[in-house]
Amino acid sequence: MFSQYNNFKAASIRLSHFFTMIALPDNIQLLPATLDFLSKEHRLFIGGAWVAPLNGKTLPVENPANGQLIAQIPLADARDVDAAVIAAQKAFDPDFSPSKRARLLWTLADLIRQHVQELAELETLDNGKPIDQAKADVLGAAQHFRYYAGWADKIEGHTIPVSAKNRLVYTRREPLGVVGLIVPWNFPLLMAAWKLAPALACGNSVILKPAEQTSLTALRLGELIAAAGFPPGMVNIVTGPGIPTGEAMTRHPGIAKIGFTGSTAVGKKIMEAAAQSNLKRVSLELGGKSPNIIFEDAPLEAVQRSLTWSSFYNSGQECTLGSRIYIHNTLFDQVVDGLAAAGQQLRLGNGLLNPDLGPLISQQQYRRVQGYIDQGLAEGATRILGERQDQVPEEGYFLPPTIFRHQNEELSIVQEEIFGPVVVVSAFEDPESIAARANHSAYGLAAAIWTKDISKAHRLAHQLQAGTVWINGYDMFDPAVPFGGYKESGIGREMGKSALDLYTQEKAIWVAL
Ligand code: NAD
Repeated sequence: MFSQYNNFKAASIRLSHFFTMIALPDNIQLLPATLDFLSKEHRLFIGGAWVAPLNGKTLPVENPANGQLIAQIPLADARDVDAAVIAAQKAFDPDFSPSKRARLLWTLADLIRQHVQELAELETLDNGKPIDQAKADVLGAAQHFRYYAGWADKIEGHTIPVSAKNRLVYTRREPLGVVGLIVPWNFPLLMAAWKLAPALACGNSVILKPAEQTSLTALRLGELIAAAGFPPGMVNIVTGPGIPTGEAMTRHPGIAKIGFTGSTAVGKKIMEAAAQSNLKRVSLELGGKSPNIIFEDAPLEAVQRSLTWSSFYNSGQECTLGSRIYIHNTLFDQVVDGLAAAGQQLRLGNGLLNPDLGPLISQQQYRRVQGYIDQGLAEGATRILGERQDQVPEEGYFLPPTIFRHQNEELSIVQEEIFGPVVVVSAFEDPESIAARANHSAYGLAAAIWTKDISKAHRLAHQLQAGTVWINGYDMFDPAVPFGGYKESGIGREMGKSALDLYTQEKAIWVAL
């Protein structure tokens, strides 16, 4: 699959202990800072120092656009996690000045913005996503740190009037201590920011574990965290796979809480490990299979503009995407034809060339998604788009946008999260039946409703079992708005004021006057 490098020129760099060639598309150059970072021997960030893993092991990292080795990252095991916990415990200071926390977070946001291009290049090489989308992620991460910089000195308790006389009762919101943050590969830097920013604003010390496929931006972020002046040990970064690295965190008695984004299957393992160890708190942002509901009176032009991206953005590797599309039968053909035509036009390619869609993250994910496509065909769903292969590059883990039509909610491609550029479309006639169909899912992350009838939209929004409902739009986000899942899509709400509850605990103090 990866034998040819036609049209690609190569930048030769020294990757820690050996030379390798980074294959670059014609007319594309990387910043010297990106090449410098790639040429480093990557280490763990523990107690403010960059240290080798105690077992000396590393993991290879590949570029999913061409299968090329681009880095080796350290493989931390339980002993490294233990060292990170000790460093974080030492750094934890519940009296650390709130305004200083705010300044550190704001400085970090500034540093991220100053390094947008470099961070985006690393993200694109590591994850495959188009460079403009990687830049949007980096800017989103900076925005998150700024938003929570604003909260750091506003985390207040309250006074409570009680029935007994001569009592003063007040509450404090106190940090939890050492918090473990485990993030996935689909939005590596952004997901790290969603957790780091509120956890640090609330006064915790943290241990961040990025996904093993995409750890480079987290490691570069560690350098920016040091440059911003965070005290040693307040932020620690360990890299490695779910087992042993992630599991060692979830079972560690010195970690008070795990903030996790990833698959529902791993979310369940994390709850189990938390229960079997020290009953640490967990918050979980998990999978989704979100319904996108288009009524007969939908604003059609806006639907068509939105639908391509709400179906295929990030090559379908986004938890909120509207992968179950329900369309009123009066519009069905028109909407589906429009989506198929737009899907066919999408340019797939190496993210450095800024195509519409990059590759899937790995060969494993490619095979998983291809397996679902095969299963959809075997189950009798009709493939409307996805057979044409000429838009798919010869090398890399690319799959074309794929649409299946069905009328059976029980199919596995309708019920299970595929996490690739695959959507299912289905017609409906009776608007009253649509809430039941939309809610017939183990997931409940997000949903969208398209109609000009605002009463109908709100009525349905209240009926849908989803943590977020968008009306006449899709994937609208802001750091100020709580986000999280119903049912098996998760526990807890990130973002906004809600995230402060995830990273603090409430204490009630009684005084007999
Ligand atoms: P994953 O669950 O395989 O891995 C996520 C993280 O957990 C990685 O860092 C991984 O190393 C770690 N991990 C794996 N096994 C572990 C274990 N036993 N103990 C501790 N840590 C472990 O998920 P993924 O494949 O990286 O990401 C895709 C999934 O993430 C999809 O299901 C997607 O829907 C979900 N996701 C959800 C949201 C959300 O906000 N709800 C956002 C992005 C992604």
